Order: sequence, then C-alpha cells, then structure tokens
Amino acid sequence: MSLSLIADRVGVSIGGRVLLADVSLRVGPGEVVALVGPNGAGKSTLLKVLAGDLAPNVGRVLLDERPLSAFRPRELALRRAVLPQQTVIQFAFTAREIVTMGRGPRRGHDDEVVVARTLAQTESLPIAERHYPSLSGGEQARVSLARVLAQEAPLLLLDEPTSALDPRHQQMVTDLARDVAASGGAVVVILHDLNLAASAADRIVLLHEGRVVADGAPWATLTETLLSDVFACPIAVTAHPLRDCPLILPLLRSVAAEAQY
Ligand code: ADP
Ligand code: MG
Repeated sequence: MSLSLIADRVGVSIGGRVLLADVSLRVGPGEVVALVGPNGAGKSTLLKVLAGDLAPNVGRVLLDERPLSAFRPRELALRRAVLPQQTVIQFAFTAREIVTMGRGPRRGHDDEVVVARTLAQTESLPIAERHYPSLSGGEQARVSLARVLAQEAPLLLLDEPTSALDPRHQQMVTDLARDVAASGGAVVVILHDLNLAASAADRIVLLHEGRVVADGAPWATLTETLLSDVFACPIAVTAHPLRDCPLILPLLRSVAAEAQY
C-alpha cells in the first residue's frame, strides 16, 4: 500500500489560544520532511495532530486516504510510529525492555531479532542492559528512537530526535530517516538544527505562530529573509561548500551589524 499523509486545513485552539491555524500538508512515500520553526511555533502540536494523538478542532488528517479518527489504535500503530518530545520513564526497565515495548502491535517470534537490529542501528547495543533512567539524555534519545524503529511502521513522526545528540549521532538519525524513506516509508521530523534539516530533508516546512509560512525544497524555504524574520535574529545563508544545499549561519548581532545584515 502506498503511503500518504494529508493534513487538510487543520486548526487547533486550546482555552481560546490558537495553536495551529489553517495548516495543510502532504507527505508521500520516499519523503523526509523537516518541520522547523521557533520555540512555541506549534511544531509539537502539529506532530501530535499528524499522529492522531490530538484531534484538531478544525480540518482533518487523512492517512492512506482514511481519516485518522476512523483508525483503531492497533491499525494506527501498524502504520505510524511516534517519538514524542519528552518520554518520561521513571521505572527501572532496561533499554532492551523499553525497545521491546515498541514491538507492541507486531509482537511475535522475531521480536528479539528486530530489537537487536534497532539497538544496533542506534548504536545502543553497549547500553542495552542498562536501566533506562540511568542513561544520559543522548543515550535515552537513542534508545527511544530504537523503540520507535522496532515498531516497523512505514511512517515515522519524530519530535526533536536529535536535540540531545552529538554530531555523529545526529547524522546517524538523519541517515536512518533517509533509509526509511528509501525503502518506501516516510518521515516527518522536527529539527532545531537548520543545517541538519537542509542536508537531510527533501522538504522543509517552516512553522511560525501556528501557521505554515514556507513549504518546499531547502533552497526555496531556508532563505535569509524568511529565517531572519521568523527566528527574529540575523541569519545568513550561503552555499554548502561540499554539496548542493544551503548552509545556515546564525550571526552574532555585532557581526551582523558590521556586515550590514
Ligand atoms: P513547538 O513544539 O513549536 O515549540 P508547541 O506545539 O509545543 O510548540 O506549542 C505551541 C504553543 O502552544 C506554545 O506557545 C505552547 O505554550 C502552547 N501550548 C501547547 N500545548 C498547550 C496546551 N495544552 N494548552 C495551552 N497552550 C498550549
Ligand atoms: Mg516542540
């Protein structure tokens, strides 16, 4: 079955506050879509709506041409896996046990093999028998990603999977996202590192104050004017020296003033 996720004029308001307004978005097989935008722009809210974890007040979301609201929980878990921004796990489960929980809807005879594979893919095998609460933030992030991968869903929705990670492991995450897309899946991933987004994503969706202000290829969306405006700080954009994608340089105000940005 070909994968398709469509948000159609989605709006979310909570307690009189508008969190999302008129957001439309399409994601198809083979795509890695990065959601970027300042703190509070509505990225996590949008991801929850795309996951079916939060029902919008207005508009609808279709997964494989069916409204998310029509899916049973197990059916949904077979089609999409979600990495929330925060996973608070206080209990003394080992990393391997946490990842095994990701097997949820697919539980079966190959659990051990799949769990070992996703622990390896996230470089988490050396910490597999450690208790999750004792792991560092970055280690926990890798184990949480392994749990999401172990679900073997074609659509991944990842909320800041790289924020706690060092450069090597950030790259590991975007490589894994590209692998999922290359095998016919799709990934929607919230990233704060605009250079990671520029190098890994086919498309960038820029959110600002609950609205989509740009949706397109990195070169079309990550422009100096738009980024400086949306992030309210001077940001220069140049060409990456080694590949065809933009290189984003947030500037110190003093540097920007001197260079007349
Ligand atoms: P982002 O992930 O882009 O940083 P969020 O989607 O988490 O932003 O939140 C968007 C805005 O909505 C923020 O200003 C946040 O404080 C607000 N918000 C999030 N959840 C709620 C809620 N349950 N009730 C009221 N406001 C909320
Ligand atoms: Mg967020």
